[in-house]
Amino acid sequence: MAQQEDVFKKIVSHAKEYGFVFQSSEIYDGLSAVYDYGQNGVELKNNIKRYWWEGMTLLHENIVGIDSAIFMHPTIWKASGHVDAFNDPLIDNRDSKKRYRADVLIEEELAKIDDKIEKEVAKARKRFGDSFDEKLYRETNPRVSDYIRQRDELHERFAKAMNDNDLNELRQIIIDREIVCPVSGTKNWTEVRQFNLMFRTEMGSTADGAMTVYLRPETAQGIFVNYLNVQKTGRMRIPFGIAQIGKAFRNEIVARQFIFRMREFEQMEMQFFVRPGEELKWFDYWKDRRLKWHKALGLGDEKYRYHDHDKLAHYANAATDIEFQMPFGFKEVEGIHSRTNFDLSQHEKYSGKNIKYFDPELNESYVPYVIETSIGVDRMFLSVLCSSYEEQLLEGGDKRVVLHLPAPLAPVKCAVMPLVKKDGLPEKARAIVNDLKFDFSTHYDEKDSIGKRYRRQDAIGTPFCITVDHQTLEDNTVTLRERDSMEQKRVNIDDLHKLIHEDVSLTSLLRKLG
Ligand code: ATP
Repeated sequence: MAQQEDVFKKIVSHAKEYGFVFQSSEIYDGLSAVYDYGQNGVELKNNIKRYWWEGMTLLHENIVGIDSAIFMHPTIWKASGHVDAFNDPLIDNRDSKKRYRADVLIEEELAKIDDKIEKEVAKARKRFGDSFDEKLYRETNPRVSDYIRQRDELHERFAKAMNDNDLNELRQIIIDREIVCPVSGTKNWTEVRQFNLMFRTEMGSTADGAMTVYLRPETAQGIFVNYLNVQKTGRMRIPFGIAQIGKAFRNEIVARQFIFRMREFEQMEMQFFVRPGEELKWFDYWKDRRLKWHKALGLGDEKYRYHDHDKLAHYANAATDIEFQMPFGFKEVEGIHSRTNFDLSQHEKYSGKNIKYFDPELNESYVPYVIETSIGVDRMFLSVLCSSYEEQLLEGGDKRVVLHLPAPLAPVKCAVMPLVKKDGLPEKARAIVNDLKFDFSTHYDEKDSIGKRYRRQDAIGTPFCITVDHQTLEDNTVTLRERDSMEQKRVNIDDLHKLIHEDVSLTSLLRKLG
């Protein structure tokens, strides 16, 4: 674990050093849990967004996009339940003065017990070799069954306290489990309090009666309140979906783990409107479809798992997270929720408008049910970055840091390099850039040794380097070097476009989704 934390620190400093992610307001000592994307980060982020957007809108003829405003009528947040219930339970440690989410402290305790179980099982597997019966071992080994019993008891108590919104019980669990503050190491805890995560501000001058408005904590409500506009103007028929990418804001109590938990972040959400009664079928469809989207990137199938929710929000009848193995454990990257007709019914009630859909096939009107897929751009960015980062020891003792980014997501697709800065090689290299730049983000680099130039491109994940040498002037060929294998082959300049395109185009990625 300590080793993984080390790797994570390296990834964070790599992200800064190579222009992916900067701390916001750094020269003023930073603003906590707010980050800026640099010259490479913004390209990677845009490519992730494009992959999602096109995966939704190009591949499904019944999904269209919108871009709704961040500010919305404040009653929307009353209707959605965010004003009254978008809370996290917080607890302070009196000695360290650090603030924590009580639910997260308990979740971490659960993860610790899980770790202990897995360690015992791994030890036994090693000891018994091929004859190991894991199921039997889990059921009969006294130490393991004791851990499992502890875990189940804790889990049940925790789920009940969360469901009942019982803050005293949450605190009692922390006391009973003797959970200590990771900073002070003490159990000197305050009471647990509710804390609303929405940022508020004022709209209009006080003279006209200013109104309290909120920075949206999710993009979904902008879709709900527009669903009928889109349905009517786009002549959409159920089932259909509306996709949106945009900023969301949450005043997170504990902001840790870099861009994993930010106060300003970006979401990619899609609401899929279906007939009442058909929602669970569509929930399964989207659960499967979204995992395929992730896996098509080739970051490693074993790095994903579903986590079905035990504590369903009162309006949901099914919910699951897609978790990704970050250096700090499996963490939620995307949520898939069957939200019933809760949000639309609430908006009908609070707005007093009829927002029912008329189903021409059934010849009846109803409030549609909704399946939502909701993924954080920044968490997706982090999962791509973490799983791509590698420090490689090369033959001859050399080291390189390489980002094995999926080629369609890489910020720069190819770099063109003249071997030397004379003899007409720079001009030839420039001519190649001028041809490729219309289709691919292309760098020109003539500084330092060729080895150093390759390393610079490896560090930002550029899939191809093209080297122009004296032979190029004679036979119109260049060396094309591939990032991961470092293989170099001699190819004709006229073939470059096709060779690069095959690897880096988003189309090839989208085709995997069918
Ligand atoms: P968590 O339990 O980690 O706080 P959540 O369950 O509240 O997340 P949702 O409300 O389901 O998250 O939001 C959907 C997605 O938005 C999440 O899967 C995540 O990728 C992203 N997201 C939510 N909060 C943040 C945040 N503070 N910073 C970055 N991304 C976030």
